[in-house]
Amino acid sequence: MRPTPSRISASDALSLLQETPLLDLGIRAYDRKHELFGNQITYVQNRHVNPTNLCVYSCRFCDFAAKKGDAHAYELTEAAILKDLSDPSLSEAHVVGGLWPSWGFKRSLELIKSIRSHYPGLWIKAFTAVEIAYFARMEKKPSLEILEQMKAAGVDMVPGGGAEILDERIHQALYKDKIGPADWLRIHKEAHEVGLPSNATMLFGHIETDEEIVDHLMQLRDLQDRGGLFQSFIPLAFLPGKTKVVAQQVSAPRCLRIIALSRLVLDNIPHIKAYWPTLGLETAASALSFGADDLDGTLGKERIMQLADSESPAALTRSFMEDIIRDGGQVAAERNGSFEVDAAVGQQVSV
Ligand code: SF4
Repeated sequence: MRPTPSRISASDALSLLQETPLLDLGIRAYDRKHELFGNQITYVQNRHVNPTNLCVYSCRFCDFAAKKGDAHAYELTEAAILKDLSDPSLSEAHVVGGLWPSWGFKRSLELIKSIRSHYPGLWIKAFTAVEIAYFARMEKKPSLEILEQMKAAGVDMVPGGGAEILDERIHQALYKDKIGPADWLRIHKEAHEVGLPSNATMLFGHIETDEEIVDHLMQLRDLQDRGGLFQSFIPLAFLPGKTKVVAQQVSAPRCLRIIALSRLVLDNIPHIKAYWPTLGLETAASALSFGADDLDGTLGKERIMQLADSESPAALTRSFMEDIIRDGGQVAAERNGSFEVDAAVGQQVSV
């Protein structure tokens, strides 16, 4: 995707974030979205698969992870996962989970092969850069090799999770056990090199500064400029849950400001998602008029945000998503996992 002719610099981005009236920022972002996609807002019928929440790490901001014996610890079986994916209307599986030895690389790869053979038409988005780094460490292999094997097993895309804020201060303060900014960027670069597109996220609304937000966006834009294959950017509003990192969830106007800023700064990443499980339904619906072009998916059994006390439901129906989009005066279009609207959606089930 071609960048806009006059690019927004880091200092302009900071002033947009801090000084521009929200509606002015929103109108600029909406106009840019409209140039790219007209009135269309996409969504996907997908299912989130989180095989386990057992995790060897204990990131400060995470309410999802558990240790053996914790009341909220769980592990799914492969059979249960395959059953969850059997709905023929699904076109995408999003597979991410905790880091746990019994869910190592070989078992995770077998799961992908099994999903691929049961549901050949399903778009498989699997394993964040954090999981890929863990697999590489456990297998004593380079992450590039892990990515090649993932692709050969049937993975179509790498999800964007684990970026948090691409800044070493935040890394040390909130999630120092797991990979930091340099490794997250390297693994996404490697994914793109092996031909796996990916998404990028940003977790905001905790201890980050405005400058760190702008720098996060600039680092993604830079990587994309260098032959990157980012398909979408997903700003994730931090849900404080039981973490005590901050007392309150970030406000709706702040979320809308971040969505609009992302659309304007990331002029080379096509899609900006209004990810409703963290924004909340009302804010996500408003974000569609502030530069976002995609409402993500129906999700099915999302567990990560539910364990962080999200007030959003764990799933939405297709008709509900379409209503949200139409109520905002735009046109709902169902897409597949690779953001194609015209392609046939829904998987082919092999029995
Ligand atoms: S954020 Fe990820 S790596 Fe960190 S504790 Fe939670 S599940 Fe584990």
